[in-house]
Amino acid sequence: MNRRTVLRALGLSALGLGVGAAAVESGVALASVPEPPRVPRAVAHPRPVPHMVEAPTPLPPYFPKPQLDRIPIPGGAIHGLPGDGDLVAFTIDDGASSEVVGAYAEFARRSGMRLTFFVTAQYRSWTEHADALRPMVESGQIQMANHTYSHPDLLTVGDGRIREELERCGDFIRATFGVEAAPYFRPPYGTYDGRVLAAARSVGYPQAVHWYGSVGDSGPISDADMSMLIDRWFLPQHIVIGHANVATVLNHFDEIATTIRDRGLQPITLDDLFAR
Ligand SMILES: [Zn+2]
Repeated sequence: MNRRTVLRALGLSALGLGVGAAAVESGVALASVPEPPRVPRAVAHPRPVPHMVEAPTPLPPYFPKPQLDRIPIPGGAIHGLPGDGDLVAFTIDDGASSEVVGAYAEFARRSGMRLTFFVTAQYRSWTEHADALRPMVESGQIQMANHTYSHPDLLTVGDGRIREELERCGDFIRATFGVEAAPYFRPPYGTYDGRVLAAARSVGYPQAVHWYGSVGDSGPISDADMSMLIDRWFLPQHIVIGHANVATVLNHFDEIATTIRDRGLQPITLDDLFAR
């Protein structure tokens, strides 16, 4: 009989005998008395295992590290993943909400979901959750890529500012996570032209990553709309974009994971597929 069972028995017998004062004084005993009797004991009273490090709790499904023959990065701008296959790249931008960045880190830890973050470095959220993200960045489950320092529309700024925005964000990612964001960048608002690509290439960013499908949460969105977009866009070889800006996605992590699983898709980071 373990300790809680003893306390529960004591509490019940004390109530039955009308001598509950002793149980009241113990405090702990009464707190454990009103457990519903039909809860299976194995669930209600898991047996502690001494010296065991608490294991992460995988969500079903848990996505393993993919084994892929990597291909050269295409260069220029990509909107989807090349070729036929069962891959999907879920890419998360910005980071205006620290709560959402933290929730993505926890979702990834529990599910094995492979994510590429396009970091806007001005947001505190990346520093606030760096300790949670770093082990997954180091293992390759999470990739950090460049979404500029302060998110300007690159069509409206000069080449010098483009280079500065990318370099400042790259410096931040290197200092915070110990990894190199280059060659991957995503132009804010998805706007670019040949001049923007050339300026980016000149500071080590030859690969612009656009997308083919969005869950629609760069700003406020309803749960119903997000569910519709998840269903619409998580498809083979798609690059799907989400944002760590508004809380709607907090209600949809399991839906995203099960949609990917049920369609037989493998979530990947860009580095899982492309060789630098
Ligand atoms: Zn953005």
